[in-house]
Parts: sequence; C-alpha cells; structure tokens
Amino acid sequence: MLSDLSWRKAKEKISRAQVALIPVGSTEQHGPHLPLGTDYIIAEAIARKVSEKDEFISTPPVTVGVSKHHRQFFGTLWVSTTRLREYVKEISLSLKYHGIDRLIFVNGHGGNANPLRNCCKEELREKGITGLVYEYWRANQEEIKSIFSESSVGHAGEMETSMVMKIAPDLVQEENIQEAEEGAANRWGLEKFGVETSFDTLDFSSSGAIGKPTKASAQKGKKIFDISCKQLSKLGKWLATTNELAEKPHLD
Ligand SMILES: [Zn+2]
Repeated sequence: MLSDLSWRKAKEKISRAQVALIPVGSTEQHGPHLPLGTDYIIAEAIARKVSEKDEFISTPPVTVGVSKHHRQFFGTLWVSTTRLREYVKEISLSLKYHGIDRLIFVNGHGGNANPLRNCCKEELREKGITGLVYEYWRANQEEIKSIFSESSVGHAGEMETSMVMKIAPDLVQEENIQEAEEGAANRWGLEKFGVETSFDTLDFSSSGAIGKPTKASAQKGKKIFDISCKQLSKLGKWLATTNELAEKPHLD
C-alpha cells in the first residue's frame, strides 16, 4: 500500500504499476456486532492483497462515505455525494500526475456506488483518466449464491460478518450477533405500491443489520475474500492494456 512506502519505494512501485486501486468505504453502523469501519476494512484488505502484484498499486482507503441514512446510530459519519465525488476526483488527478491514468475504485459501501460511477463517467473521463468501480458483491454474484444462504446482499448480515471474521476477527463482537439478527430486516428498505417508502436504515431495521449474521463464519469469509481478490486481479490486468474503453469519435 502506497502509504506504507517511502517516496523512493513509491517511485519504484509506481514505475512498474499500470493500475491504481483506490479502496473506498464508510464509517457507519454495522449492527451491534461489527465495527463502524467494516466497509473500508473489507475494501482495504482486498486492495492491499491484490496490490502485492507488480501491476497494481493501492492507495490508502477513503474511510468516510455517503452514509447519512445511518446517522441515528452513534458514531456514523458521512459526507455528501458531491463532496465524495470531488474528493476521489482529486485523488485520481494526483495519481495521474505520477503517471497512472487507469484506476479502479474498490468500493465497500453501496451508498458510494452512484457518486463513484458518475465521477468515472464525467469528471475522470474528461481528464483522460479511465476509472472503473469494483464491488465484490456485484462482481461475484454466482459465487456468493453458492457460499451464502442469504438471497440478498444485506448489511452487517451473513456476508459482511463473514468477511470481518476473516479479515479482522478481533473486531467482531460475537456475543452481539444474536441481538443483531433479532432486530434485523430481511431486505433493504420498505416499499408501498412498488415505491420505495423508507429514507433511513432505522425505518426498517432496529439493530441496523439486514440479513442473517448468525449464519456467518470465517471460512465463508475466506472463500468470498479469495474469490473477490482473484476477480479484481483479472479485471485489473484487463484494464491495464485494453483499448476497449476509449471514447468513440463523433459520427460522420
Ligand atoms: Zn457494509
């Protein structure tokens, strides 16, 4: 990870790397059993692992994201979508200055997805930077179905709890997992007449969790962690050399 290196070591690593990985997460409630940093802890661990390869360099994580909808739970921090977009754009521009103009946001938090994608589509493209957004739960859906019993991705549920059990077991409060599940919702949000009618997480989950954290295990966490790293590595190697993402010219 870039922040572990001296500038001389960073120069060497950057001269070999073709793609930068930027982990982005949140500091937000993840039930009574997981740390507030869950999303960036997962994103950072994946990016750190993959960046051991020469082709990649990982930046330190962006640790606060778009999380206002969790604010009734103590400790949750948030920034607006425009602020996040602006912030990651400027990180990307500094990477371009050092010679890396292909990058992947390794996103650990659903609420960051749209601002990150919009930043890639608009701000970064016009600056000559090719950016993609990698989300492990989206990129590995088939594998997730085979590992976990939950049908939806959840929040502080089976999958995220398993991931933290693998990556940072000391931060999981196992004695609170039961309570997390008792107050959990089984899906994200509320709907009436086909319309989303909830605004905050607390509108549908009293513990802050969605899903079944009691089904989590470190073994399941290791499986999805390894698969997620492998898939990101494949994506990154493709991005390093592809011409397929160049902007098409104006029609005649
Ligand atoms: Zn999360």
